[in-house]
Order: sequence, then C-alpha cells, then structure tokens
Amino acid sequence: KKITIAIDGHSSTGKSTLAKQLAKALNYIYVDTGAMYRAVTLYAIQQNFISETYFYTDKLIENLNDIYLSFKFNDDLGFAEIYLNDEKVEDQIRTIEVSKLVSKIATVSEIRTKLVQQQKKYGIDKGVVMDGRDIGTVVFPDAELKIFMTASPEIRARRRFLEMQQKKMDTPFDEVLKNVVERDKMDSTRTDSPLIIAKDAVVIDNSNLSKEEQFNMILKLANE
Ligand code: C5P
Repeated sequence: KKITIAIDGHSSTGKSTLAKQLAKALNYIYVDTGAMYRAVTLYAIQQNFISETYFYTDKLIENLNDIYLSFKFNDDLGFAEIYLNDEKVEDQIRTIEVSKLVSKIATVSEIRTKLVQQQKKYGIDKGVVMDGRDIGTVVFPDAELKIFMTASPEIRARRRFLEMQQKKMDTPFDEVLKNVVERDKMDSTRTDSPLIIAKDAVVIDNSNLSKEEQFNMILKLANE
C-alpha cells in the first residue's frame, strides 16, 4: 500500500538526497518544495521585487498569478527538475544569492498559501515523498511517515559548501555557514508555518550517520 512520506528539517541536512533515493527505491514521486520557494525567489529577483536592501512584498503578491511552477522528470538524472514559467531553473535557484533571500520570501503568507495548495495536489494519489519545512505539519498533517532531519550547523555547512564547489560555485565556507544558520533562524521564528517538529515525527540527527545508514533506517520505517 502506497503512503505519504513527509521529510522536514533544518537547512542542508541532506533531505533532498535522501528523499530522491527513497522515491526511487519505492517507485514514488519526489517533490522538492524548497525548489518551489527558491523559484519564486528567482522570479522576485528577476523582477527587481527583492534584493538585500529592499523587498516590495505587495508587488510580488500582486504578481503571484504570473508565477507558474512545474516539475518535469529527467530520465538521466532520475528526478524531476523545476521549471519557472516553462524555463528550467534547477541550477539558477541554487546560488548563494537565492539562498540569502529565500527565507524572506518564505515568510509571506500569500506565497505559502499558493505553494501549499499546489503541493497538496501532488499528494492526492499517495506514493509521494515530499521534503521541506512544513510538510508534516501543514501540507500533509496526516502523512503515514514523518521524518525530521537535523545535524550540527558546521557539518551541514560543510556538506553544502562541498556541493557548491562541485557545481563550480565559489562561495567561501564562512558565508555558507552564516547562511545556513540565518535560514534556520528565520524559518523557525516566522509567524506563518514556522519550522517545528511534528509531534509524530521521527527525529534523525545525521551528524554521524552515513547516507547509507540513513537510507536503510528510513526505508525500514516506510515498510513497517
Ligand atoms: O529546502 P531548501 O533549503 O532548498 O529550502 C529553501 C528555503 O525555502 C528554506 O530555508 C525555507 O526558508 C523555505 N522553505 C519553506 N517551506 C518549505 C520548503 C522550503 O519555508 N516547505
């Protein structure tokens, strides 16, 4: 029987890597909700609605209907990539510029409402692994399996730093660490859907766990 798996947690805890692996093993669909908030951020940057010094929240809200997000499965990569108004933006949304602004975008209730509505639709048929910050609390409060992932900030920043280097993004480690800490803080303190651990979530601190150990742990839980 197919279930819904909600994976929430702090920034750069390897949620998406794990969720992708899990979806593949179970033949489920995988939805990266962080990518959706990032794509809205990219749109806002392109329209000059947000920068490090200003945020024209009202203008962004007025234009929300001009933002169309979709996912298309990439056979070579084995997961679905995100498109902003039919343009693939999978790489553009991973820059430090977007990472610095995304948590501000994610505080806006109108944006959350729009994205949550779309996310709920992906779960109608079950057989979905979704990762984010509010999946087990807001998007799928009835999910059969809820995971909350965390690890020490330094370990998370190190992982993100190495990942960015592989993609030839030369952001200094200190800046990556600062961003990870700041995003967690903003995500946990916002008024609309703050990052909290769902009561029925299984908490996994993966500071000292390999990817394989985590995967086996969660696969076991999914099959219970
Ligand atoms: O998962 P990722 O780190 O790419 O998410 C980027 C940001 O998007 C988070 O730091 C958070 O501010 C926001 N987000 C959110 N709710 C989600 C997913 C992401 O607020 N479900």
